[in-house]
This record gives sequence, structure tokens and C-alpha cells, in this order.
Amino acid sequence: MPSRRGFLRLTAGAAALALLGCGSGASAASKPMTPALSAAAQTVPATPVPTPRPVPKAGRFEWTMQSGTPWETPLVVTHSGVRGPSVLVLGGVHGNEPGGWLAAEQVADWQPAIGSLLVVPRANILSTRALERTLPHLGDLNRLYGSTTDMPMAKMASEIIGLSTQFHVDFLLDMHESWGFYAERAQNGTAFLGQTISSGQGPAVGIEQVVRDRANQTVGGGRDRLLSRDEVLMLRATQSPNSYQNFNTWRGGTSSLSAGQYVAGLTPILVEMGQMDQPVSRRVELHLTVARALLDSQSML
Ligand SMILES: [Zn+2]
Repeated sequence: MPSRRGFLRLTAGAAALALLGCGSGASAASKPMTPALSAAAQTVPATPVPTPRPVPKAGRFEWTMQSGTPWETPLVVTHSGVRGPSVLVLGGVHGNEPGGWLAAEQVADWQPAIGSLLVVPRANILSTRALERTLPHLGDLNRLYGSTTDMPMAKMASEIIGLSTQFHVDFLLDMHESWGFYAERAQNGTAFLGQTISSGQGPAVGIEQVVRDRANQTVGGGRDRLLSRDEVLMLRATQSPNSYQNFNTWRGGTSSLSAGQYVAGLTPILVEMGQMDQPVSRRVELHLTVARALLDSQSML
């Protein structure tokens, strides 16, 4: 019997390749043959008729990303069977950020009321086992989007893009942790991004503020209150004088915040929970609060 996971890998990989530069030849070849038009018809531009996307049948499927490699890792897909948004949640992109993957493992069990929920709980599974950010031979998944290198995590990023294309993912939620809390930072840097939520380029402009406000209704006003992209933007401004002006043209670099460049309709969201003096159980709870806020905002729960 053909392997479902093999099929997924092949199709996702093909989609990613097309996006990453195989180019116009492939799309031209895929166009259906059409009968010759009459002379009158040729003078009138055809009005495109939108075709509704088919709704996947309800069900829960477990597949494998990077199947057959030492870094293969589970993917859980739950289709509601009702038309609606598609959300992909990533945990374990960095192995020393357990709040993210422990939360993602719980999200994998959620049942969406509409749309589809896809979860890769431990995107860099070998690093989660080692409790390291990553391992040298794997590369850093959150620095390899758009990369064509042979690094294992570059291939994973490519498969995530292919998966997002195949399932028409609207939101990519990437669950991370930082050491310090952004609001308490003594200095700027990626070690002090705790309790921030950012979104990258995509059609859902301002989604991070919607999610932040919904989540903060539960979080309250303490030190773990979530801060949005604007504060992160100001952080970048203080790091480099030109970065404030450059932010509008910043496209997420090679992090998951760049994923909207590769997948039409996708808006990426990246969350960082602070680890300093905040127990992992609380970080998990906060990640779940953010995931719930996103799904709630889309009427998926
Ligand atoms: Zn991280």
C-alpha cells in the first residue's frame, strides 16, 4: 500500500521546489489545453470564474515530515470538514525552548470547529531531545527559510513551505522562547524578547495585535503580559538607527516570519515566551492561550 507520508512528502517537496525558483516552465506546462476560440471571443478578455477550493473531508491524520531521515518528525492534521481557515502550528524549532513544543503537543489534540489545524510539535526533534537550540550538522530552522542548501533544517523549512502551500495555510504560528522578558530588558537583543508576538508580511495585517489583545484578556496585566510587534519594531530601531525606516521593507529575513513570501495568502506569527523566573508550566499555559486566541479570532474553536 502506498505510504501516505511518502505521498505528502513528495507533493509538498514538489510544491516547495516550484516556489523556490523552478519557475515559469512548470506552471506553463500545467495549464490545461483549451479549444481554439472564435475570432469574436478572442477580442474579449475572458472573465475568470473563481473555483471554490474543495473542503477536505473531516478526519485526523498523522504523517511524518522529512520521512526516512534521522530528523523525521510527526505532523498531525485535523480537518473539521467545514470550510474555514487553515492554521499551521510549529513547536520545537529550537530544542532549548520546551514551552513551545510542550504546548504544540497539546494543540495537536485540539479539534477545530471549522477549517483545518496542522501541527508539527517538534520541528527540530533531534534538538529537542538534546535540549539544545539546534545541533551543528542540522542548521538553525529559523534561519533557513528560502535556503537551497543541503542542511537538514533547510530541507525542513522547504517542506514546511510546501506543506503550507498544499494545505493553503492562512496562519503559521511559530512557538518560541527567549530568556529575558522584553519589558524588563537591561539590554537589547534576541535573549530579551520574552512575551512578544510579531507577525510577518501577509494579508492579515495587524493579526498580532488581535491575538495579543485576546490573549491578554486571560493573561492580565502582570509581567507576562504580551507585547506586540510595535514594541519589537522599537527594539530593532534602538539596535540600528536605520532599522525603523527599514522595517517596512524588512521581509522576515530567513526566519518563519518570511514564510508569507513563499505561500500566497499566508500570514506568519512568531511568539516568544520569557524563560527567566517563569516556570515551564506557565510558559506552556501562555503558549496555549495565544494559540487559542488565534483560533478563536478565526471562529475555529
Ligand atoms: Zn526560538
